[in-house]
Amino acid sequence: MSGLSKTLTVNGNPFPILENISFVVDDNQFVCVVGPSGSGKSTLLRIVAGLEKPTSGNVSFQGKQAGREVVVSMVFQSFALFPWLTVTENVSVGLEAKNIPKGERSKLTERYIDIVGLNGFEDAYPKELSGGMKQRVGIARSLAVMPDLLCMDEPFSALDVLTAQGLRDELLTLWHNDEFPPSAVLMVTHNLEEAVYMADRVIIISQRPGRMVSDMTIDLPRPRDRKSPEFMDWVDQVFSKII
Ligand code: ADP
Ligand code: MG
Repeated sequence: MSGLSKTLTVNGNPFPILENISFVVDDNQFVCVVGPSGSGKSTLLRIVAGLEKPTSGNVSFQGKQAGREVVVSMVFQSFALFPWLTVTENVSVGLEAKNIPKGERSKLTERYIDIVGLNGFEDAYPKELSGGMKQRVGIARSLAVMPDLLCMDEPFSALDVLTAQGLRDELLTLWHNDEFPPSAVLMVTHNLEEAVYMADRVIIISQRPGRMVSDMTIDLPRPRDRKSPEFMDWVDQVFSKII
């Protein structure tokens, strides 16, 4: 994306949300955007996913636009499941929207329910699931459409500490599996430790209006040890850049 800005009009006055954000997410990269609450992270992701238009600047995917040619899917902090649909129906929602034929749809849905470890819960409704399981549904739904880019908006923030850490590790295992469909992940979080744990690159944006402060390549070997001095040093470095 280049020169991306978003300004709203509030009570007749311009209200800048994002200013001049430019960065490239390379194939095979897991990129985290971190910034304080209100810095425009969710807005940025919605623009990338094509759910919102920027005031200026543009987002492109190797010269193509999001939509028919490039599939971008999103995992939300609040899970965003349909309460009246079962796990299977929630996972297949995106496939229906893409008019994938029924047979293919069932195959993909089954496959991704299996990948996120929800076998046996196919017919359960969201209210019967724990937070971690709900987010597994959210992840399965996003992967089933086989996106080129997976966007995640604070996907672990609503979960308890242990569940969140378990899901982070599972997602990283999937990410390192050759069959994982997206060629890149763009995740936003306000959790610096989470960003350093997961990302190849951390992009830091400032308090509103969100401007790019730093773009850091985290070259720590994986799996990362959150207790190691090197890890803590990276978290400190990211922290020192947040204004
Ligand atoms: P983040 O995800 O980093 O917390 P958001 O992208 O949700 O930030 O929001 C950035 C800023 O834009 C916040 O200050 C928020 O209050 C404001 N904002 C977002 N959407 C609207 C809207 N529709 N009307 C007014 N303000 C908005
Ligand atoms: Mg947000």
